[in-house]
Amino acid sequence: MPTSTAVLERRLFGPGPSNPYPEATAALSLPLLGHLDPAFLAIMDETCAMLRTVWGTDNARTLPLSATGSGGMEAAFVNTVGPGDVAVIAVNGLFGQRMCDVADRCGAEVVAVEHEWGQPIDPQRVAEAHPNPTVIAAVHAETSTGVRSDIAALGALKGDALLITDAVTSIGGIELRADSWGVDVGYAGTQKCLGVAPGLAPFTITDAAFERRIPKPQSWYLDLGLLGGYVGGGTSGGGRTYHHTAPVAMVASLHAGLQRVIGEDLENVWARHTEAGQILQDGLHEMGLELFAAEGYRLPELTTVNVPDGVDSAAVRKILLERHNLEIGSGAGAYASSVWRIGLMGHNARPDAALLVLAALQDAIARA
Ligand code: PLP
Repeated sequence: MPTSTAVLERRLFGPGPSNPYPEATAALSLPLLGHLDPAFLAIMDETCAMLRTVWGTDNARTLPLSATGSGGMEAAFVNTVGPGDVAVIAVNGLFGQRMCDVADRCGAEVVAVEHEWGQPIDPQRVAEAHPNPTVIAAVHAETSTGVRSDIAALGALKGDALLITDAVTSIGGIELRADSWGVDVGYAGTQKCLGVAPGLAPFTITDAAFERRIPKPQSWYLDLGLLGGYVGGGTSGGGRTYHHTAPVAMVASLHAGLQRVIGEDLENVWARHTEAGQILQDGLHEMGLELFAAEGYRLPELTTVNVPDGVDSAAVRKILLERHNLEIGSGAGAYASSVWRIGLMGHNARPDAALLVLAALQDAIARA
């Protein structure tokens, strides 16, 4: 059994691709700035500006929340729904289910619009599920199933409801245009296609949605009314005031990751994800494997594969990890042992990484 340091070195420097963009991990090891140091405040301002670009929004209130993607989800609901409100939620996987749980805990009446896992959401059915919802919510890229849903179509049908969108697995990987799609409140994560360590939730809210927010949400920490001063300036329209201590290393890392993405040009980054995913999905097809997600709605950054009959899913994953230094995910929920989930995100969204996965998977299946 290797020591933990040896394992770490193998993961970081071994043959397999590493997750984050190198620039983002390098930023984590820089000397720490104080959270009110003007140099850090400049980094925060630039980070918010670059987040607007990757969100496709002009929203002044766009910021990295000090929370993981789930914290972003909590912030979206806790600020928009409470008792007496109706939340229509499209469910086509685990993260739609989690939205229902979160909205329920806020005291909202939840109308869950269930879809078969592996299928995209049906915008028409979601929009018609209730005559007068306060919010309509959907996951753009369902990580549990590898499916992309049409948020623009839902935005066109939302009526007076606020549209909440989960972009955890889409931001920085596939086309995302919050403003033109009608997204009122959006949250995302850093650890997927943005290629940064987990720990922040890129968040955006329109002025109109902000004006309609719950006056005193039950969460102090995630109350957007109080958080305005945290990033100050362009985000709150006012000065900067203390709210909580900014996770300075994480913000610096996000800043570096965003510079990388924007420097490469966002559309080129989307194209790189598309190409890598296509190489992987074509190769899996050639290997005789079946993809789980519905054709036409497959995410390039997260490919779901049916585990072939008679193959031990866990044994294959173990061989991939220990022999090839590659981690792939098991399926979610009822598909835990019948589906694999393969991510090619951020730095990993490259043809060579796709080819490496194909070769390693072939070897692992033969050995399992
Ligand atoms: N939403 C989606 C689509 C996700 O994939 C995830 C995490 O994988 C989350 C929400 C929750 O994010 P986190 O695990 O960073 O809290």
